[in-house]
Amino acid sequence: MTKPLIGSFQLMKSLNRSLVLTTIRNEGPISRADIAKRIALTPPTVTNIVNELLEEKFIMESEVGASSGGRKPILLRLNSRSFSIIGVDVGVNAIKSILTDLDAGVIRENRRSMPPCPDAETFLAELKASIDDLMGAAGSERPVIGIGIGMHGLVDPREGVSVFAPNLRLRNVPIRQSLEEAFGLPVYVENDVVAMALGEQWFGGGQEIDHFICVNIGVGVGAGIILNRQIFHGSSYSAGEIGHTTVDLNGPRCSCGNYGCLQTLVSGPAIAETVQNEIALGRRSKLQPSAAGSLQSITGEHVYEAAMAGDELAVEAFRKAGRLLGISLTNMIHTINPQKIILGGGVALAGPLLTEPLEETVKERALESSVLHLTIETSTLGHRATAIGAVTIVLSRLFAEPHLPKEQVAR
Ligand SMILES: [Zn+2]
Repeated sequence: MTKPLIGSFQLMKSLNRSLVLTTIRNEGPISRADIAKRIALTPPTVTNIVNELLEEKFIMESEVGASSGGRKPILLRLNSRSFSIIGVDVGVNAIKSILTDLDAGVIRENRRSMPPCPDAETFLAELKASIDDLMGAAGSERPVIGIGIGMHGLVDPREGVSVFAPNLRLRNVPIRQSLEEAFGLPVYVENDVVAMALGEQWFGGGQEIDHFICVNIGVGVGAGIILNRQIFHGSSYSAGEIGHTTVDLNGPRCSCGNYGCLQTLVSGPAIAETVQNEIALGRRSKLQPSAAGSLQSITGEHVYEAAMAGDELAVEAFRKAGRLLGISLTNMIHTINPQKIILGGGVALAGPLLTEPLEETVKERALESSVLHLTIETSTLGHRATAIGAVTIVLSRLFAEPHLPKEQVAR
């Protein structure tokens, strides 16, 4: 039964259907006549498309609208519970998957630990097991119409291939091909931070923002860039690799081979390392390991907890990371001039500990004209930001745009 679904899903790409569906999603409950006016299609064309969408259960008839003299119109709205979508956040330490409705409302989720340095086969088997669990939960009641993957590292989204995942030491893994064969559903793969930016654009702080940057600060550091409401991938899908911009010429060596990359100074492991080094040099801290524990067992989370408990060294480690991020983001602000920067990822959960020194640094260093319209905020999508982003990759193939301009006219 999955085959016909793929067929109808692909038909959605037809522009008029997509526009009708998007109008119903954004403005429903809405009458057939109002849809026709809104996107300048003829009423018979709208009626035909609406009939197909009703038959496929993508939309439903809801209450009766106000009459403008004649018969009262029947209003249409999205049947968001009729289908589901799976979104997967593939990180360095874990695979986090969610099953959602067409509004990205979470129905079920699961988390699997990533085996250390998996080979491609093991990696794909873990991915499939995570998805399989959610397929079972979706059942035939609300069939899954697509799977979105937010993958750590360099991704070729056209081919759905993980080109290079440095922290997992994987290269050229054909994720889309493998999952499409396993599940018989359309699969879309994007870089995890690009997915996060898409999620923010549809459901978070990026709604109706023309130019914004989403910055993920976790085990690695990267940015997803939205320009003119479109993802900016760059010429070989590596735009936004800000984790590898140099911020300290004499800094530590990075996994990429260079020295002093942003990632070596502000990622979760980097913050933990700063603290470990200071304690090794004799600095006192609440994080002093017990006689049995080793310094290496101190993680970014431990540093966060100690900082919240007022530990001076831990607070300092976050302030330093915040200032360095502020410098990097100022460089990006001067290059791109965004309206908004949205911070996500594990380190961003530290909140003001990180954002206060970050914002102070941007204020000190950025040109006034570059920050005229700028706001910096933390993602409201929390730890699910990337998984919701992965769901959004599928939604973005189904619907025309998250927010059609008010005067959208089909040509
Ligand atoms: Zn680097």
